[in-house]
Amino acid sequence: MRHFITTDDLSDSEVVEVFSRAKEFLKREESGDELQGKSVMTLFFENSTRTKSSFEMALNRLGAKVMHLDISKSSTSKGETLLDTAYNLKSIGADAFIIRHSDAGVPLTLARNLGENGVVINAGDGSFAHPTQAMLDLFTISQNFSDLKGKRVAIVGDIRNSRVANSNINLLQRFGLKVILVAPPHFLPPTKLETATFLKDIVDEVDIIMSLRTQVERHSRESYASLEDYAKDYCITSELIGKRDIILLHPGPVNRNIDISDEMMSDPRAKILKQVENGVVVRMAILEKFLRK
Ligand code: ASP
Repeated sequence: MRHFITTDDLSDSEVVEVFSRAKEFLKREESGDELQGKSVMTLFFENSTRTKSSFEMALNRLGAKVMHLDISKSSTSKGETLLDTAYNLKSIGADAFIIRHSDAGVPLTLARNLGENGVVINAGDGSFAHPTQAMLDLFTISQNFSDLKGKRVAIVGDIRNSRVANSNINLLQRFGLKVILVAPPHFLPPTKLETATFLKDIVDEVDIIMSLRTQVERHSRESYASLEDYAKDYCITSELIGKRDIILLHPGPVNRNIDISDEMMSDPRAKILKQVENGVVVRMAILEKFLRK
């Protein structure tokens, strides 16, 4: 049974195949029945607005039955171990489980222990991976550039704690994009990639800017004097971007005037709502690929 835990679970040609199917779904107005008869459980052990509703919308549009495990009422909050959760999920008999967890590795552990008893789709684990986000990001980039090879992407912000950055660093490079990491030193992971401390120093060299939210929930203590302080150096503003021919991405939720200024949020170069729209069709294509036998 194939699970979707990291972007490496899809080959380059499968990524291309998912994107061409997502394009078909973009044009389709009615719901289909590709996953009719399939039941899928969403297990979100960590908050989510976009990803959870995007998966639910995608499943509805494919005709699947969606069940949502209410974590606050589930036995994990009563101290059940992850393995016991897996054994119980096995007995429930859903066709797939869409999982988000604050600990890296949980989707992989559940996948290993479920065996043939359900496909696991990672909806974000700790600071490790968020493969469907990277897929929709690359899809959005590909709508704006006819040739991806050599395009330069600056990933800006709390890269060290970002699963979105991790998955994108992997996937974007596989498709020939050049990634530059822009962050204060304490937000930079150990890396062989090109890095910069300030965006203004490399803004002339990039085609795409991917801004990230500061992952305060993953910080053991305050890593910047204050978010306002951080914003002085890292907020993407119209003054910083000027008239440059770039596109601006952000996985959401955006901290307005910390990550991106109000003005840039409504600039046509900001593709943030387009990313959300694309998220549904890209997830439809991924779910179809992993669930349809
Ligand atoms: N929504 C994204 C995630 O779940 C980004 C974020 O939360 O900052 O990782």
